[in-house]
Amino acid sequence: MSIGLSTTRFAPSPTGRLHLGHALSAVLAHDFAGDRGGAFLLRIEDIDPGRSREEHVAGMVEDLHWLGLSWDGPVVRQSDRLPLYAAALDRLKAEGLVYPCFCTRADIARSVSAPHGPEGPLYPGTCRGLSEADPSRPHAWRLDVTQAAARVGRLIWSDHGQEIEAQPDLLGDVVLARKDAPTSYHLAVTVDDAAQGITDVVRGRDLFLSTHIHRLLQALLDLPTPAYHHHKLLIGPDGERLAKRHGALSLADLRDQGIDPQAIVEPIRAGAAPLGFRLSDA
Ligand code: GLU
Repeated sequence: MSIGLSTTRFAPSPTGRLHLGHALSAVLAHDFAGDRGGAFLLRIEDIDPGRSREEHVAGMVEDLHWLGLSWDGPVVRQSDRLPLYAAALDRLKAEGLVYPCFCTRADIARSVSAPHGPEGPLYPGTCRGLSEADPSRPHAWRLDVTQAAARVGRLIWSDHGQEIEAQPDLLGDVVLARKDAPTSYHLAVTVDDAAQGITDVVRGRDLFLSTHIHRLLQALLDLPTPAYHHHKLLIGPDGERLAKRHGALSLADLRDQGIDPQAIVEPIRAGAAPLGFRLSDA
């Protein structure tokens, strides 16, 4: 539980336009801080060089203003902060808790030994313990989750004030630096939430399992643990989860159709889903 003022953030990846699910996260994170006299920050998670687009950054700012949201301080961009992530990775390398991984997606998909996690196949650990690897070949860096978890022992985090015991092995040996980028979502988000003094993370339940990894990284890197508030996800009239759709329901499209932004913001503020959607039960 955080004491005093809250700092929250909205942290979209500019790989497409914002959709209704983003509006839900942004309004909830904005109001969480606003209700407590705290600060709401905007962070652009543009570490994916292949998929991040500059025009989406401008579009996101426009969409948030259309919803009537404003944020405190300058917009932070992860692409400006790569040395910080590299320093965190170097520390984990020095402690022997990460290893280079040369596998391609196809290698991993072909692996018959891949154990299954709650979100699909886990990395089977092919490159863990490789003694002779050619470092000039393209490689990612993976966290040796078993060793890392053993190093720090039992960890707790909170979701809506309820204590959760961290289970960092649920997602396997996650990637901390990609072949095509010197960091990954997990590492960058953990470093930045600490660096920006985020006290409360308000985000969708699709990221609930990732929090187990973030908690482990916080322990390994001596970073503080925010309080988490994972919110329900939007389900479309057809029963499909919104996060999986693309394009059709962007906020820009809704604006072009003449939708009043209050028809989105007001139901969210009343604890409901906008525009014929419903909130997931689980
Ligand atoms: N950048 C992530 C996304 O757009 C969200 C990060 C977070 O809230 O932790 O899905």
